[in-house]
Amino acid sequence: MSESWKTRTKLVHGGTRRSQYNEVSEAMFLTQGFVYETAAQAEARFIELGEDEFIYGRYGNPTVAMFEDRIAALEGTEDAFATASGMAAVNGALMSLVKAGDHVVSAKALFGSCLYILENILMRFGVEVTFVDGTDLDAWRAAVRPDTKAVFFESMSNPTLEVIDLKAVAEIAHSVGATVVVDNVFSTPVFSQAVAQGADVIVYSATKHIDGQGRVLGGVVLGTKDYIRDTLEPYMKHTGGSLSPFNAWVLLKGLETIDLRVRAQAASALTIAQSLQDHDALERMIYPGLETHAQHALIQTQLDGNGGTVIALDIKGGKDAAFAFLDALQIPVISNNLGDAKSIATHPATTTHQRLSDAQKDELGITPGLVRLSIGLEDTDDLVADIRTALAAIS
Ligand SMILES: *Cc1c(COP(=O)(O)O)cnc(C)c1O
Repeated sequence: MSESWKTRTKLVHGGTRRSQYNEVSEAMFLTQGFVYETAAQAEARFIELGEDEFIYGRYGNPTVAMFEDRIAALEGTEDAFATASGMAAVNGALMSLVKAGDHVVSAKALFGSCLYILENILMRFGVEVTFVDGTDLDAWRAAVRPDTKAVFFESMSNPTLEVIDLKAVAEIAHSVGATVVVDNVFSTPVFSQAVAQGADVIVYSATKHIDGQGRVLGGVVLGTKDYIRDTLEPYMKHTGGSLSPFNAWVLLKGLETIDLRVRAQAASALTIAQSLQDHDALERMIYPGLETHAQHALIQTQLDGNGGTVIALDIKGGKDAAFAFLDALQIPVISNNLGDAKSIATHPATTTHQRLSDAQKDELGITPGLVRLSIGLEDTDDLVADIRTALAAIS
């Protein structure tokens, strides 16, 4: 791969390792282990693993390495480690960094399982966590301390699509020497410029846009070679959260088309948000690409003006109205994934965020009428018409 290649070229060819058969499509190496020519070779590999040498599936695999190199080329990081799911990536990124007595600052608007790691698991191991409103820079400034080891946030929050100023938070974190860990799922690796904006460690659930066709779970942690190989890898390879080669192969194929898919989905999401934002059945429409969004100016610099592939609609009439809307949709399916080719409608208050208390839901804007719509690859006009029909069916 040439460093000068543009993104689309890297996404198709980056990281490719050909076997002796010179296959065109990447080979799937479904093997747990690797054979050594001699006992001495086995000994040498256990002392130090060279480039493209493997000893055991939990430590690395050629198909998984192809995926890691290709996603690192897209994100622009030195290295990457692929994980069994997005949560294995979040857990590994944080747990490999901190020890008892450390302090972490986190945004409070988080995916439920991310919140569980910060609120329950880290605390249980003696790591103190301070939660802040991620959009309030003064709150970040007030929360960081000399013993703050890491800050964590979703650059675009789930499901209310708040955008956090990555560059500003990174400056605050770096002023006390803290590592900036960003869960970048909603921003997507296509629109992300997280490294240039100061992120040290970037985490994705590959289950979302990277697969993009609803097939496998996966995740990835990206960062410098030093962090990935010296800090993260020892934690991941000994605790067992590695990505399977089958899933890595599916995700490699997903990367070939991710730029085309995500750009088409985001363009469709913008059109849908614009054509429905003033609809009478809506309390409010949340989409970062709309001028009415609180962080619309920020996405111009942070995401090149792209608002992502997810829209949130707050429907008048609360839960009953939201359920009637979901049930009336013909094209989007009712499910809880996102970033898929199929449009997906989710009612966060009763599913993904059901576990939160009413007070927490209130604080995060997860109202009974809130519906999250992940926009897929269907025809935009069909989606607008279908959503309009479903909104009309509420009353
Ligand atoms: C889905 C998701 C995760 C978890 O990913 P899994 O692949 O389901 O483990 C983490 N963070 C965000 C923001 C997500 O949307």
